[in-house]
Amino acid sequence: MKDIIIIGGGVIGTSIARELSKYKLNTVLIEKYDDVASGVSKANSGIVHAGYNETLGTLKGKLNVLGNEMFDELSKDLDFPFKRNGALILAFSEEDMAKLKELKFNGEMLGVKGLEILRREEVLSLENNVSEKILGALYAKTSGIVSPYEMVIALAENANVNGVEFKFNSEVINIEKICDGYKITLSNGEYLESKCVINAAGLNGDIVNNMINDHQYKIKGVKGEYILFDKIAGRLVKKTLFQVPDKISKGVLVTPTIDGNLMIGPNAHKGAKIDIKTTKEGLGEVIDKAKRSVSQLPLNRIITTFVGVRPCLKSDFIIEEVNCAKNFINVIGVDSPGLTAAPAIGVYVKNLIKDSFNLIPKDNFISTRKGIIKFDKLGITEKNELIKRDCNYGKIVCKCELITEGEIIDAINRPLGARSVDAVKRRTRATMGGCQGVGCLIPISKIIARELNIDISEVMKNKKGSNMIGYKEA
Ligand SMILES: Cc1cc2nc3c(=O)[nH]c(=O)nc-3n(C[C@H](O)[C@H](O)[C@H](O)COP(=O)(O)OP(=O)(O)OC[C@H]3O[C@@H](n4cnc5c(N)ncnc54)[C@H](O)[C@@H]3O)c2cc1C
Repeated sequence: MKDIIIIGGGVIGTSIARELSKYKLNTVLIEKYDDVASGVSKANSGIVHAGYNETLGTLKGKLNVLGNEMFDELSKDLDFPFKRNGALILAFSEEDMAKLKELKFNGEMLGVKGLEILRREEVLSLENNVSEKILGALYAKTSGIVSPYEMVIALAENANVNGVEFKFNSEVINIEKICDGYKITLSNGEYLESKCVINAAGLNGDIVNNMINDHQYKIKGVKGEYILFDKIAGRLVKKTLFQVPDKISKGVLVTPTIDGNLMIGPNAHKGAKIDIKTTKEGLGEVIDKAKRSVSQLPLNRIITTFVGVRPCLKSDFIIEEVNCAKNFINVIGVDSPGLTAAPAIGVYVKNLIKDSFNLIPKDNFISTRKGIIKFDKLGITEKNELIKRDCNYGKIVCKCELITEGEIIDAINRPLGARSVDAVKRRTRATMGGCQGVGCLIPISKIIARELNIDISEVMKNKKGSNMIGYKEA
């Protein structure tokens, strides 16, 4: 019998896992895909929101601010990329200017620090390429940018090093109450028993809830389309540029990414949870809206487009013990600002279960983790020394992002190592450059096959059935 089963390896499940790994508990995280960060947490804006537009008295309002404040220490401890670049919420009319004052007041009530209303000239002196049509902006200094998947991977690796077991390719298909807990059935026929279950299944949080709770939920997908530009375009803006938010979303943003690209999006359209196709109309809408903030977008520098689907349930996050099921905790309907709030959600959930478990801190908890070396970021002397120690760092595999074979081998062989090409991508950025993998997909597949001692025909792009090549090499 396990103490805790966490369902879902997104930013919520892994934040909870890492928090609980500080205590003497027998915890397992179950994920239906072959890697963490395979769901909503891999495709979003990657903004650590300041929190000025959340509603006072909600979990979103409270956990956004608390989560935001945890990022400096967490990113340093777990070695994932994060930067407080600040955000500007642009006003284009007197009505917008009035709204900015409301947002500032609201943010201050919520405890957001460093909010300031700037005049037009002040905004233009901070951002050269912002539209001439603006009247002013709200400057949110605590807003930041993060690599969402590197964050999830870091949380998961650290939880694993501290004793949390991870079960991949394991979908929970049934949950039954037993006398002192729950019996969980996995898609491979395996059973697990646990005293406590934490439902962090993202878009499927309703399906998992409905397996046990008389109160049935239905999560709706709200699709957001994005356009990603190369790193030359990434110099266009330094801060994240928002427009005044509406009721459904925070609007289309223009932002540098933590890796130095430029990104615009997302729009917001209700649709199927599994609809991840971009459309000409949707991308056109994103461009038109982004052009309000930055009129001269370098459309010739676009490298890819993608979709993220928001798991929308109620206006606030649902984080609670289910009425009819003791120690069954739902953490669902976690749409934006879920990425920002995640570290605080980990602590909140720990506090929810602390009365049922005697939480004894571990003496040997390892609070830090070292990420994969980023060869391209090293100085010339460090590069030479590294190559002398391991010649695999002298072989560039992804020529666009300058990712070496050494980094890819590390991605595969470290705790919870990569098992597919996309898992290597999320850990190293290989295939994320201008050619989008045309030059390195097969070399990476060969390295995975060699390191895992499998045939290259068994190497997947991501999910089961996405074989990189459909034949066996002689
Ligand atoms: C377009 C968009 C933009 C966003 N931008 C931001 C932003 O800038 N800042 C911010 O703070 N937030 C943002 N968010 C919100 C943030 O991305 C989410 O709140 C967060 O990623 C949700 O994480 P999760 O762990 O709940 O879900 P997920 O990451 O989806 O994780 C759930 C996991 O559960 C697994 N799973 C599902 N069912 C089962 C099952 N039966 N058995 C086993 N495993 C299962 C899934 O495979 C998945 O890996 C954005 C979201 C979207 C869609």
